Amino acid sequence: MQIPDITIAVDGYSSTGKSTFARLIAEKFGFLYLDSGAMYRGVTLYAQENGLISPDNVIDPALEKALETLDLHFGQGTVLYMGERNIEKLIRTMEVSAQVSPIATVPYVRQYVDRRLHEFSAAGRVVMDGRDIGTTVFPNAEIKVFMTARPEVRAQRRFDELAAKGQNPVFEEVLKNLEERDYIDSHREASPLRRAADSFELNNSDMGLTEEIAWVEGLIRGKFGLLDAPEEIPGIGADKTGTV
Ligand code: C5P
Repeated sequence: MQIPDITIAVDGYSSTGKSTFARLIAEKFGFLYLDSGAMYRGVTLYAQENGLISPDNVIDPALEKALETLDLHFGQGTVLYMGERNIEKLIRTMEVSAQVSPIATVPYVRQYVDRRLHEFSAAGRVVMDGRDIGTTVFPNAEIKVFMTARPEVRAQRRFDELAAKGQNPVFEEVLKNLEERDYIDSHREASPLRRAADSFELNNSDMGLTEEIAWVEGLIRGKFGLLDAPEEIPGIGADKTGTV
């Protein structure tokens, strides 16, 4: 399917499979994929390595100045770099997960990440995932998806991911971390996690990736009047909530 040069925003709770979904969309339709969460993780790693955040999440105001020169960017694929250093593995640990949401509440951190994201996506044809993409970063995105799934399903996925990477996750800790991040993300003052009014909800608790892609393809076909819109795909038509 040939689709126009649009922006696709994918938001939702932690570990709902946003990045896998967004990555596949990018591959299938020839879009640039940008993982905004990786940027917040990169700032967190920087703060940790430079002693700018205490174990109880007190953030040193010197972080603001440091961000003026902090070079976080994506390399080949969607690998995050800090300057020359590939930090992709380091930002996915439980240590970073434990402090990323407090870091992401800080307005100057959000401004830094938003600015970088806009620079990276200047050429258009982008799919970006995060918490506030459809509400704040790209409020005019043509397609907005809001992903949800049951907490235990999400924790299990995250647990499997960490285990596959050779880390030693504890299920209860993973679940607790997800719930804490969801709480902080949806209760912070600066760009809280909210479902955009014009987004389509995708609850993928009992869905496979193939179905998810068929769903979004249906959404795009419906929106742009492309041929062969499969009528039975939920999310297009009269019921604009699009919940599956
Ligand atoms: O997507 P991921 O789980 O890697 O994001 C890590 C954290 O970064 C989230 O829990 C959230 O606190 C923060 N984040 C955010 N806004 C975004 C993306 C991520 O606040 N757009």
